[in-house]
Amino acid sequence: MDCLFCEIIKGNIPSAKVYEDERCYAFRDINPQAPTHVLVVPKIHIASMDEVNGENSAYVSAIFEAIPKIAAAEGLTNGYRVISNCGEDGCQSVKHLHFHILGGRKLPENMG
Ligand code: AMP
Repeated sequence: MDCLFCEIIKGNIPSAKVYEDERCYAFRDINPQAPTHVLVVPKIHIASMDEVNGENSAYVSAIFEAIPKIAAAEGLTNGYRVISNCGEDGCQSVKHLHFHILGGRKLPENMG
């Protein structure tokens, strides 16, 4: 298989979609770490934060425009956290850039 999240975007692997536009796709994390745990991914393959550049940053910008809309739709009126794990030390397990939206409860202060 090429890339798990590319396959999810194409609809070849099922996902619980919460948002979609021309440039990004958002779906529920299969192993939620908070009452709300959504992943937002660009619709082109960008391997990680390390691969963001002037050619593809419009996709990242679109993600950051989508995040507040998704948070509002999820009812995260009291705040939330956005995380992107990058590379080995960041414990990135899926090599397609993604942003975790976590919320629905008070999150731990310690982030690492
Ligand atoms: P990361 O560790 O930052 O690379 O995050 C990858 C995330 O993808 C993890 O939180 C997984 O639970 C999630 N995940 C893996 N496979 C799937 C899937 N098929 N559908 C939804 N989320 C997934």
